[in-house]
Amino acid sequence: MTARLLDGVKIRDEVFAELRLAVAELHIKQHVRPGLAAVLVGENAASQLYVKSKIEASHHLGLSSWLHTPSASSTTDDLLHLVDELNRDYRVDGILIQLPLPKQVDTKRVLEAVDPAKDVDGFHPINLGRLVSGRPGLVACTPAGCMEILRRNHIPIEGANAVVLGRSDIVGKPMALLLMHANATVTICHSKTRDLPDIVRRADIVVAAMGKAGFVAADWINPGAAVIDVGTNKVTDAAEAENLLRNFPARLQKFREKGSVLVGDVHPDAVNTAGALSPVPGGVGPMTIAMLMSNTVKAARLRRGSPTAGEATVPSSETQSSAPSAAGAR
Ligand code: NAP
Repeated sequence: MTARLLDGVKIRDEVFAELRLAVAELHIKQHVRPGLAAVLVGENAASQLYVKSKIEASHHLGLSSWLHTPSASSTTDDLLHLVDELNRDYRVDGILIQLPLPKQVDTKRVLEAVDPAKDVDGFHPINLGRLVSGRPGLVACTPAGCMEILRRNHIPIEGANAVVLGRSDIVGKPMALLLMHANATVTICHSKTRDLPDIVRRADIVVAAMGKAGFVAADWINPGAAVIDVGTNKVTDAAEAENLLRNFPARLQKFREKGSVLVGDVHPDAVNTAGALSPVPGGVGPMTIAMLMSNTVKAARLRRGSPTAGEATVPSSETQSSAPSAAGAR
Protein backbone atom coordinates (compact mmCIF):
# COMPACT_ATOMS: atom_id res chain seq x y z
CA MET A 1 0.00 0.00 0.00
CA THR A 2 1.25 3.48 -0.78
CA ALA A 3 -0.06 6.32 1.33
CA ARG A 4 -2.18 9.06 -0.17
CA LEU A 5 -0.14 12.25 -0.32
CA LEU A 6 -1.44 15.04 1.93
CA ASP A 7 -0.18 17.85 -0.26
CA GLY A 8 0.39 21.02 1.77
CA VAL A 9 1.36 23.08 -1.27
CA LYS A 10 -1.95 22.37 -2.95
CA ILE A 11 -3.94 23.26 0.17
CA ARG A 12 -1.87 26.39 0.76
CA ASP A 13 -2.75 27.51 -2.76
CA GLU A 14 -6.45 26.87 -2.10
CA VAL A 15 -6.26 28.87 1.14
CA PHE A 16 -4.39 31.67 -0.61
CA ALA A 17 -7.06 31.84 -3.34
CA GLU A 18 -9.77 32.15 -0.66
CA LEU A 19 -7.78 34.75 1.25
CA ARG A 20 -7.22 36.89 -1.84
CA LEU A 21 -10.98 37.11 -2.29
CA ALA A 22 -11.53 37.81 1.42
CA VAL A 23 -8.90 40.57 1.40
CA ALA A 24 -10.37 42.16 -1.73
CA GLU A 25 -13.85 42.05 -0.18
CA LEU A 26 -12.64 43.65 3.06
CA HIS A 27 -11.04 46.40 1.04
CA ILE A 28 -14.06 47.07 -1.17
CA LYS A 29 -16.78 46.79 1.47
CA GLN A 30 -15.05 48.11 4.59
CA HIS A 31 -12.02 49.99 3.22
CA VAL A 32 -9.85 47.76 5.38
CA ARG A 33 -6.51 46.43 4.19
CA PRO A 34 -5.16 43.94 6.73
CA GLY A 35 -1.54 44.65 7.67
CA LEU A 36 1.27 42.45 8.95
CA ALA A 37 4.37 43.82 10.69
CA ALA A 38 7.34 41.44 10.80
CA VAL A 39 10.19 41.92 13.25
CA LEU A 40 13.45 40.27 12.22
CA VAL A 41 16.26 40.79 14.72
CA GLY A 42 19.86 40.28 13.51
CA GLU A 43 21.01 38.37 10.47
CA ASN A 44 20.14 34.71 10.95
CA ALA A 45 20.06 33.37 7.36
CA ALA A 46 17.23 30.88 7.94
CA SER A 47 15.11 33.55 9.68
CA GLN A 48 15.74 35.99 6.82
CA LEU A 49 14.47 33.38 4.39
CA TYR A 50 11.33 32.64 6.46
CA VAL A 51 10.49 36.33 6.87
CA LYS A 52 11.07 36.98 3.18
CA SER A 53 8.55 34.32 2.24
CA LYS A 54 6.02 35.72 4.73
CA ILE A 55 6.37 39.23 3.31
CA GLU A 56 6.09 37.87 -0.23
CA ALA A 57 2.92 35.99 0.72
CA SER A 58 1.49 39.23 2.17
CA HIS A 59 2.14 41.03 -1.11
CA HIS A 60 0.66 38.17 -3.09
CA LEU A 61 -2.58 38.35 -1.08
CA GLY A 62 -2.91 42.12 -1.12
CA LEU A 63 -2.06 42.70 2.56
CA SER A 64 -0.02 45.65 3.75
CA SER A 65 3.27 44.61 5.29
CA TRP A 66 6.16 46.22 7.11
CA LEU A 67 9.54 44.73 7.89
CA HIS A 68 11.43 45.92 10.98
CA THR A 69 15.04 44.80 11.26
CA PRO A 70 16.54 45.77 14.62
CA SER A 71 20.23 44.91 15.00
CA ALA A 72 21.51 41.68 16.59
CA SER A 73 22.67 43.74 19.60
CA SER A 74 19.11 44.91 20.42
CA THR A 75 18.10 44.63 24.07
CA THR A 76 14.83 43.41 25.56
CA ASP A 77 13.89 47.06 26.19
CA ASP A 78 14.57 48.01 22.56
CA LEU A 79 12.23 45.28 21.37
CA LEU A 80 9.59 46.06 23.99
CA HIS A 81 9.62 49.64 22.74
CA LEU A 82 9.17 48.49 19.12
CA VAL A 83 6.36 46.09 20.06
CA ASP A 84 4.65 48.92 21.96
CA GLU A 85 4.78 51.10 18.84
CA LEU A 86 3.33 48.31 16.70
CA ASN A 87 0.62 47.61 19.27
CA ARG A 88 -0.45 51.28 18.99
CA ASP A 89 -0.29 51.45 15.19
CA TYR A 90 -3.89 51.10 13.99
CA ARG A 91 -2.81 49.92 10.51
CA VAL A 92 -1.02 46.90 11.97
CA ASP A 93 -3.35 43.93 12.48
CA GLY A 94 -0.69 41.27 12.98
CA ILE A 95 2.71 41.35 14.67
CA LEU A 96 5.17 38.60 13.85
CA ILE A 97 8.29 38.29 15.97
CA GLN A 98 10.59 35.95 14.06
CA LEU A 99 12.26 33.47 16.42
CA PRO A 100 14.85 32.79 17.64
CA LEU A 101 15.70 36.15 19.22
CA PRO A 102 19.32 36.85 20.23
CA LYS A 103 20.47 35.31 23.52
CA GLN A 104 20.50 38.58 25.48
CA VAL A 105 16.78 39.14 24.78
CA ASP A 106 14.06 37.84 27.11
CA THR A 107 11.96 36.16 24.41
CA LYS A 108 9.03 35.39 26.69
CA ARG A 109 8.70 39.04 27.78
CA VAL A 110 8.79 40.25 24.19
CA LEU A 111 6.20 37.73 22.99
CA GLU A 112 3.91 38.47 25.93
CA ALA A 113 4.13 42.20 25.20
CA VAL A 114 2.39 41.68 21.85
CA ASP A 115 -1.24 42.76 21.98
CA PRO A 116 -3.17 39.44 22.01
CA ALA A 117 -5.47 40.91 19.34
CA LYS A 118 -2.43 41.21 17.03
CA ASP A 119 -0.76 37.95 18.07
CA VAL A 120 -1.01 36.25 14.67
CA ASP A 121 1.44 33.54 15.75
CA GLY A 122 -1.02 32.54 18.47
CA PHE A 123 1.78 32.29 21.06
CA HIS A 124 0.35 34.66 23.68
CA PRO A 125 -0.91 32.94 26.87
CA ILE A 126 -4.24 34.74 26.44
CA ASN A 127 -4.73 33.16 23.03
CA LEU A 128 -3.62 29.78 24.34
CA GLY A 129 -6.14 30.18 27.18
CA ARG A 130 -8.85 31.05 24.68
CA LEU A 131 -7.99 27.92 22.75
CA VAL A 132 -8.27 25.83 25.91
CA SER A 133 -11.74 27.21 26.60
CA GLY A 134 -12.93 27.28 22.97
CA ARG A 135 -13.33 31.05 22.71
CA PRO A 136 -12.57 33.24 19.68
CA GLY A 137 -8.88 33.93 19.36
CA LEU A 138 -5.80 33.39 17.26
CA VAL A 139 -4.49 29.82 17.06
CA ALA A 140 -0.84 28.87 16.55
CA CYS A 141 -0.21 28.55 12.82
CA THR A 142 1.46 25.13 12.56
CA PRO A 143 -1.21 23.15 14.45
CA ALA A 144 -3.94 25.15 12.72
CA GLY A 145 -2.31 24.17 9.41
CA CYS A 146 -2.27 20.48 10.43
CA MET A 147 -6.01 20.66 11.15
CA GLU A 148 -6.62 22.26 7.78
CA ILE A 149 -4.71 19.42 6.08
CA LEU A 150 -6.87 16.84 7.88
CA ARG A 151 -10.14 18.61 7.13
CA ARG A 152 -9.51 19.40 3.51
CA ASN A 153 -8.51 15.80 2.91
CA HIS A 154 -11.72 14.61 4.60
CA ILE A 155 -9.84 12.61 7.22
CA PRO A 156 -12.42 11.68 9.89
CA ILE A 157 -11.46 13.29 13.21
CA GLU A 158 -14.54 12.82 15.36
CA GLY A 159 -14.13 9.67 17.47
CA ALA A 160 -10.67 8.95 16.04
CA ASN A 161 -7.75 7.91 18.25
CA ALA A 162 -5.22 10.67 17.73
CA VAL A 163 -1.65 10.50 19.02
CA VAL A 164 0.38 13.71 19.22
CA LEU A 165 4.14 13.19 19.57
CA GLY A 166 5.56 16.28 21.27
CA ARG A 167 4.12 18.71 23.82
CA SER A 168 5.70 22.06 22.96
CA ASP A 169 3.68 25.23 23.53
CA ILE A 170 3.76 26.10 19.84
CA VAL A 171 2.97 22.74 18.25
CA GLY A 172 2.16 19.73 20.45
CA LYS A 173 -0.11 21.31 23.07
CA PRO A 174 -2.27 23.42 20.74
CA MET A 175 -2.43 20.50 18.30
CA ALA A 176 -3.77 18.20 21.00
CA LEU A 177 -6.34 20.83 22.04
CA LEU A 178 -7.54 21.33 18.47
CA LEU A 179 -7.94 17.60 17.94
CA MET A 180 -9.74 17.23 21.26
CA HIS A 181 -12.14 20.07 20.41
CA ALA A 182 -12.80 18.32 17.10
CA ASN A 183 -13.87 15.29 19.18
CA ALA A 184 -10.86 13.03 18.70
CA THR A 185 -9.63 10.97 21.64
CA VAL A 186 -6.17 12.39 22.12
CA THR A 187 -3.00 10.92 23.62
CA ILE A 188 -0.07 13.30 24.08
CA CYS A 189 3.40 11.72 24.11
CA HIS A 190 6.76 13.19 25.10
CA SER A 191 10.31 12.17 25.87
CA LYS A 192 9.30 10.34 29.06
CA THR A 193 6.47 8.35 27.47
CA ARG A 194 6.83 4.57 27.85
CA ASP A 195 5.96 2.04 25.13
CA LEU A 196 5.77 4.71 22.44
CA PRO A 197 5.54 2.27 19.49
CA ASP A 198 2.52 0.52 21.06
CA ILE A 199 0.75 3.83 21.65
CA VAL A 200 1.38 4.96 18.09
CA ARG A 201 0.13 1.61 16.75
CA ARG A 202 -3.30 2.33 18.23
CA ALA A 203 -3.65 5.67 16.44
CA ASP A 204 -5.95 6.50 13.55
CA ILE A 205 -4.23 9.90 13.33
CA VAL A 206 -0.57 10.49 14.20
CA VAL A 207 0.90 13.98 14.47
CA ALA A 208 4.68 13.85 14.88
CA ALA A 209 6.32 17.02 16.24
CA MET A 210 9.49 15.98 18.04
CA GLY A 211 12.38 17.25 15.95
CA LYS A 212 13.94 13.76 15.54
CA ALA A 213 14.66 12.71 11.96
CA GLY A 214 12.86 9.53 10.95
CA PHE A 215 12.23 8.58 14.59
CA VAL A 216 8.75 7.14 14.04
CA ALA A 217 9.35 3.76 12.39
CA ALA A 218 7.16 2.56 9.54
CA ASP A 219 5.98 -0.46 11.52
CA TRP A 220 4.70 1.78 14.35
CA ILE A 221 2.02 3.09 12.00
CA ASN A 222 -1.35 1.41 12.12
CA PRO A 223 -1.96 0.35 8.49
CA GLY A 224 -4.19 2.97 6.92
CA ALA A 225 -3.63 5.66 9.59
CA ALA A 226 -3.34 9.33 8.65
CA VAL A 227 0.09 10.72 9.49
CA ILE A 228 0.90 14.41 9.76
CA ASP A 229 4.64 14.91 9.91
CA VAL A 230 5.51 18.28 11.43
CA GLY A 231 9.22 17.53 11.90
CA THR A 232 11.64 19.47 9.75
CA ASN A 233 15.11 18.06 10.24
CA LYS A 234 18.13 18.87 8.11
CA VAL A 235 20.19 15.69 7.81
CA THR A 236 23.84 16.12 6.81
CA ASP A 237 25.31 12.84 8.08
CA ALA A 238 25.83 10.44 5.14
CA ALA A 239 25.21 7.23 7.13
CA GLU A 240 21.97 8.66 8.58
CA ALA A 241 20.79 9.77 5.14
CA GLU A 242 21.60 6.33 3.64
CA ASN A 243 19.60 4.65 6.40
CA LEU A 244 16.59 6.95 6.09
CA LEU A 245 16.47 7.06 2.30
CA ARG A 246 17.63 3.54 1.37
CA ASN A 247 14.33 2.94 -0.45
CA PHE A 248 14.31 6.35 -2.15
CA PRO A 249 17.20 6.36 -4.61
CA ALA A 250 16.27 9.67 -6.23
CA ARG A 251 16.26 11.49 -2.88
CA LEU A 252 19.47 9.78 -1.85
CA GLN A 253 21.11 10.90 -5.06
CA LYS A 254 20.03 14.48 -4.36
CA PHE A 255 21.52 14.20 -0.87
CA ARG A 256 24.82 13.02 -2.35
CA GLU A 257 24.89 16.01 -4.70
CA LYS A 258 23.82 18.59 -2.12
CA GLY A 259 25.22 17.22 1.14
CA SER A 260 21.95 17.68 3.04
CA VAL A 261 18.33 16.63 2.95
CA LEU A 262 15.17 17.65 4.83
CA VAL A 263 13.51 14.74 6.61
CA GLY A 264 10.47 14.63 8.88
CA ASP A 265 10.09 12.90 12.25
CA VAL A 266 8.45 9.93 10.53
CA HIS A 267 10.63 7.44 8.70
CA PRO A 268 10.11 7.86 4.93
CA ASP A 269 9.30 4.11 4.68
CA ALA A 270 6.00 4.89 6.45
CA VAL A 271 4.67 5.75 3.00
CA ASN A 272 4.16 1.98 2.69
CA THR A 273 2.12 1.57 5.90
CA ALA A 274 0.18 4.82 6.38
CA GLY A 275 -3.11 5.42 4.59
CA ALA A 276 -2.31 9.10 4.15
CA LEU A 277 0.89 10.99 4.83
CA SER A 278 2.02 14.61 4.70
CA PRO A 279 5.42 14.81 3.01
CA VAL A 280 8.49 16.66 4.23
CA PRO A 281 9.10 19.02 2.57
CA GLY A 282 5.77 20.09 1.05
CA GLY A 283 3.34 19.11 3.80
CA VAL A 284 2.97 21.12 7.00
CA GLY A 285 5.58 23.77 6.12
CA PRO A 286 3.55 25.58 3.42
CA MET A 287 0.45 25.40 5.63
CA THR A 288 2.15 27.28 8.47
CA ILE A 289 2.56 30.34 6.29
CA ALA A 290 -0.99 29.99 4.93
CA MET A 291 -2.34 30.03 8.49
CA LEU A 292 -0.24 33.09 9.36
CA MET A 293 -1.90 34.94 6.50
CA SER A 294 -5.29 33.59 7.53
CA ASN A 295 -4.70 34.76 11.12
CA THR A 296 -3.76 38.24 9.88
CA VAL A 297 -7.05 38.54 7.99
CA LYS A 298 -8.91 37.15 10.99
CA ALA A 299 -7.16 39.61 13.33
CA ALA A 300 -8.16 42.48 11.03
CA ARG A 301 -11.78 41.37 11.18
CA LEU A 302 -11.79 40.82 14.93
CA ARG A 303 -10.06 44.15 15.66
CA ARG A 304 -12.07 46.18 13.20
CA GLY A 305 -15.41 44.73 14.14
CA SER A 306 -16.43 42.69 11.11
CA PRO A 307 -19.77 41.02 11.75
CA THR A 308 -18.33 37.59 10.81
CA ALA A 309 -15.32 37.90 13.06
CA GLY A 310 -16.65 36.61 16.34
CA GLU A 311 -16.71 32.90 15.60
CA ALA A 312 -15.36 30.58 18.22
CA THR A 313 -11.72 29.54 18.01
CA VAL A 314 -12.95 26.02 18.34
CA PRO A 315 -15.39 25.58 15.51
CA SER A 316 -18.72 23.97 16.21
CA SER A 317 -20.40 21.31 14.14
CA GLU A 318 -19.07 22.60 10.82
CA THR A 319 -15.44 21.83 11.56
CA GLN A 320 -16.01 18.89 13.84
CA SER A 321 -17.22 17.06 10.79
CA SER A 322 -14.77 16.18 8.08
CA ALA A 323 -16.07 18.97 5.86
CA PRO A 324 -13.41 21.35 4.56
CA SER A 325 -13.41 24.66 6.38
CA ALA A 326 -12.76 27.96 4.70
CA ALA A 327 -9.65 28.93 6.63
CA GLY A 328 -9.64 32.34 5.08
CA ALA A 329 -13.19 33.03 6.08
CA ARG A 330 -12.32 32.88 9.75
P1 NAP B 1 10.40 21.21 20.71
O1 NAP B 1 9.97 22.44 21.40
O2 NAP B 1 11.85 20.82 20.74
O3 NAP B 1 9.54 20.00 21.31
C1 NAP B 1 9.84 18.68 20.98
C2 NAP B 1 8.88 17.77 21.72
O4 NAP B 1 9.17 16.44 21.33
C3 NAP B 1 9.02 17.85 23.24
O5 NAP B 1 7.75 17.88 23.82
C4 NAP B 1 9.75 16.57 23.59
O6 NAP B 1 9.39 16.01 24.85
C5 NAP B 1 9.28 15.64 22.50
N1 NAP B 1 10.24 14.58 22.29
C6 NAP B 1 11.57 14.69 22.12
N2 NAP B 1 12.13 13.48 22.01
C7 NAP B 1 11.13 12.57 22.12
C8 NAP B 1 11.08 11.17 22.10
N3 NAP B 1 12.18 10.42 21.97
N4 NAP B 1 9.88 10.58 22.24
C9 NAP B 1 8.76 11.30 22.39
N5 NAP B 1 8.74 12.66 22.42
C10 NAP B 1 9.93 13.28 22.29
O7 NAP B 1 10.00 21.22 19.17
P2 NAP B 1 8.81 22.00 18.41
O8 NAP B 1 9.10 23.44 18.35
O9 NAP B 1 7.49 21.52 18.91
O10 NAP B 1 9.04 21.40 16.94
C11 NAP B 1 8.98 20.03 16.67
C12 NAP B 1 9.41 19.76 15.23
O11 NAP B 1 8.52 20.42 14.37
C13 NAP B 1 10.79 20.29 14.87
O12 NAP B 1 11.38 19.41 13.91
C14 NAP B 1 10.52 21.61 14.20
O13 NAP B 1 11.52 21.97 13.27
C15 NAP B 1 9.23 21.28 13.49
N6 NAP B 1 8.39 22.45 13.20
C16 NAP B 1 7.99 22.61 11.92
C17 NAP B 1 7.17 23.67 11.59
C18 NAP B 1 6.72 23.82 10.18
O14 NAP B 1 6.20 24.85 9.83
N7 NAP B 1 6.86 22.78 9.34
C19 NAP B 1 6.79 24.59 12.57
C20 NAP B 1 7.20 24.39 13.88
C21 NAP B 1 8.00 23.30 14.19
P3 NAP B 1 9.71 16.74 26.25
O15 NAP B 1 8.66 17.78 26.39
O16 NAP B 1 9.60 15.65 27.25
O17 NAP B 1 11.10 17.31 26.12
